[in-house]
Amino acid sequence: MQTVHSIAEVQDIISVRRSEGLRIGFVPTMGNLHGGHLTLVEQAKQHCDIVVVSIYVNPLQFGPNEDYDSYPRTMEQDQQLLIEHGVDLLYAASTTEIYPEGSENHTHVSVEVLDGMHCGMSRPGFFRGIATVVTKLFNIVRPDVAVFGEKDVQQLTIIRKMVKDMCMPVDILGAPIAREETGLAMSSRNGYLSREEREDIAPTLYQCLLAAKEAIQAGESDFDLLRRDAFAKMAQAGFKPDYFNICNTETLLPATHNEKSLVILAAGFLGKARLIDNIYFERD
Ligand code: AMP
Repeated sequence: MQTVHSIAEVQDIISVRRSEGLRIGFVPTMGNLHGGHLTLVEQAKQHCDIVVVSIYVNPLQFGPNEDYDSYPRTMEQDQQLLIEHGVDLLYAASTTEIYPEGSENHTHVSVEVLDGMHCGMSRPGFFRGIATVVTKLFNIVRPDVAVFGEKDVQQLTIIRKMVKDMCMPVDILGAPIAREETGLAMSSRNGYLSREEREDIAPTLYQCLLAAKEAIQAGESDFDLLRRDAFAKMAQAGFKPDYFNICNTETLLPATHNEKSLVILAAGFLGKARLIDNIYFERD
């Protein structure tokens, strides 16, 4: 695996591979890689001839009081994992090239409406930061296929819309959520939790999603009641609940009572972390 840091190097290497007729798969990440990221790499490998992973902790998607400075940066360990998983090229991007005049003094991409819901309500500017950096990374790498995790379902929905609206020539694939044995969705931010928080409290988030899914499938249609129940269970376990929204899978708008495909998106604060999760399902 080659590791490169500059846009020119990425473009030189990929243009040669593209001229050989190879399909380029791309997995953008912020590093501190875990099993969830590796699911994306495996999916990219299935659909493409070469796999490019980027690691970049994007300052534009962090709010002023968020964890940009403390976000875990584990480059050597990440490189080792990517080598073991057969990745061809690692692009470790640098802010001097991504935002040469500063991140606020850069062209921004916004996917409006969608970016103000759910996580966008407690993290203003978050999705603008993501849409901007993903656009830039797509233009640098020019992948045929890019893989994103269903764990960040709002991000995946926003990227799909951006690609469709802007006619970007890339296929977007979603990869299923990788979970720890307890059911907790894998996340770099799980590392902020104490052992007790991680093992005993954090899995409650997924348990609340499963309980609401089962209730809906058993015929419950009072979504406000389900939200109140989930908030109460989360708070009792030790979370500060953020949202628990039962939505249409395409639009992520609140579900109406006759929709069949549903997704529940949930988020909560626990210790030093803010955790998110979701669940897709059909009802009869
Ligand atoms: P991040 O490094 O957190 O920005 O995540 C990079 C990519 O990995 C995103 O597309 C995430 O949705 C995806 N991802 C993170 N955690 C998981 C997980 N537990 N399961 C599947 N995909 C994930």
